[in-house]
Amino acid sequence: MNFCDLAVSGVTDLAPYVPGKPIEELQRQYGLKDVIKLASNENPMGPSQAVQAAIARNVAQITRYPDGNGYQLKLALSEHYGIAAEQITLGKGSNDVLEMVARAFVSQADEVIFSEHAFAVYGIVTQAIGATPVVTSASNYGHDLAAMAAAVSDKTKLIFIANPNNPTGTYVDPAEVYTFMQQIPERVLVVLDEAYYEFSEQSADTFRWLESFPNLIICRTFSKAYGLAGLRVGFGVSHPQVADLMNRVRQPFNVSHLAQIAAVAALGDNDYLVKSRALNEAGLEQLCDGFEQLSLDYIPSYGNFVAVNVGRDAAPVYENLLREGVIVRPIGAYGMPEHLRISVGLEQENAYCLEALTKVLA
Ligand SMILES: *Cc1c(COP(=O)(O)O)cnc(C)c1O
Repeated sequence: MNFCDLAVSGVTDLAPYVPGKPIEELQRQYGLKDVIKLASNENPMGPSQAVQAAIARNVAQITRYPDGNGYQLKLALSEHYGIAAEQITLGKGSNDVLEMVARAFVSQADEVIFSEHAFAVYGIVTQAIGATPVVTSASNYGHDLAAMAAAVSDKTKLIFIANPNNPTGTYVDPAEVYTFMQQIPERVLVVLDEAYYEFSEQSADTFRWLESFPNLIICRTFSKAYGLAGLRVGFGVSHPQVADLMNRVRQPFNVSHLAQIAAVAALGDNDYLVKSRALNEAGLEQLCDGFEQLSLDYIPSYGNFVAVNVGRDAAPVYENLLREGVIVRPIGAYGMPEHLRISVGLEQENAYCLEALTKVLA
C-alpha cells in the first residue's frame, strides 16, 4: 500500500514545517554545554513573575479539563481591548486560529492568497485542505498589497496578511492595509496576523476596524511579546458570526487551563510588556550595528528578529554557527537562501551571536 495515494492531494506536496532546533537537541548532537537559541522569536526575558505566581496558584487544577469556553480569558481580553467576548476565538497559539479559519471557510475549490516570503503556516493550512494557494510576489521582501488585491478572483475565499511579517520583519503602514480592506469584496475573508503587534508602542488600534470590515479576522498571540510560547495560547477577533463558525471547528479543550490562567496574568502585567519592548528595541539595534560592522545587509525589522543577508549560501553558515553553540534560523524554505533569521536575545546572547557570526564568516 502506498499511503500517499490515500492522502488529500495537497498533503503529499507539503514539506513539514521545520521549527528552530531545540537547545537540548544541539547539546546532544555536538556534546555542547552552552547553547543559545535565537531561532524561534521567543521572548528572552523568561516568564513574568505574575504569570509564574498565577500558574503556581492553579497547578492543582490540572486534573480537571479546562473551561472549553475560556470564560475568564475572554472576559479579560474583552475588558483589555474593548471588544465583545462573542468576537473572540481562542487558540492553542494563533497558529491554531489560522487553521480554524481555513477549516471553517475554505474548501478544495477555493483559492487562498498570501505573499511570497510570508509566514509558512499560511501555505500549510491551505494545502492541507487541498485548496489552491495563490502566492503574490513580494515588494522589497514585504507584502505588495496592490498585487494581492489584483489577485482576487471569483474563487478567492481567504487572504492572509502578516503585519509585521515573519521571517522578513517587514511592516506595511496600517493606513495602506485599511485602504486594501476597502478594495476587498465582503465575500473574501482577510486574516490580519499581528503576532508581533505588541513590540511597537504606536501600532494602530486595528480592532476598531472590525466595525467597518465584517470580513476581517485579526490574530494575536501570547507567544512573542508576552513570553508564553511554550504554553500555546493566542486568539482571533472577528465578526461574532465568523467567531461562532470558527468555534464550531475548534477542538473543545484546545487551550489548556494553565495557558488560560497564564494569559490572564500576562495581560495584567504591563511592566513585563514595557520591559519586553525596551529589551527588544535595544537588542535589534545591537544586532543591526553588528551587521553593519560586518558589512552585511539586513532587512529593517518591526518584530523581535531580523533577517540578515550573509552574502553566500546561508546553510553552511547556519551549520557552523551550531558548532559554536548558536542556533539561528535558515530561511531557504522561504525563498531566501542567503538570509538567516536571528531572534533578539539578551544583550550577552546577541553579543555572543555576533562574535560567532564574525568567526564563522571569516
Ligand atoms: C509566531 C507567529 C505566529 C503564532 O505563533 P503561535 O505561537 O502559534 O501563537 C503567528 N504568525 C506569525 C507571523 C508568527 O511569526
